[in-house]
Amino acid sequence: MPYAYDDQNIFAKILRGEIPNKTVMETDHTLAFEDIQPQAPHHVLVIPKGAYVTADHFALEASDAEIVDFTRVVGQICRALGMQPGEGGVGYRTISNAGEDGVQEVPHYHLHILGGRPLGRMLQPAG
Ligand code: 5GP
Repeated sequence: MPYAYDDQNIFAKILRGEIPNKTVMETDHTLAFEDIQPQAPHHVLVIPKGAYVTADHFALEASDAEIVDFTRVVGQICRALGMQPGEGGVGYRTISNAGEDGVQEVPHYHLHILGGRPLGRMLQPAG
């Protein structure tokens, strides 16, 4: 079954310029902006400009150019924020929620980049 993309989602509106955002970085294929409700001192959302719903959708159907561009933007944001643990910088976390079980609020693929404080464990043990 093809992925169904709802072009009325909030991030689609941001991409069309209908809703303002605090842009961190923009390229031909990718937009990165500050999360409106930051969960950490640094909380950046990275989204492809293409109409992809989830990480799997993007990974399976985006072009090589889109995937490379998106990935490089993630690296450049981490570097700009001093979040390069392998280079002496602080740590960070990337998260992508998908679907109902993943508690995805906005159905346009996005990667959260969180950092600037110790983040604790990713998930609590089940049960
Ligand atoms: P999800 O649960 O889908 O992974 O996360 C969606 C994220 O989008 C949330 O962290 C939420 O705070 C953020 N968000 C929702 N609406 C807006 C908005 O209008 N502008 C921005 N910048 N972030 C938003």
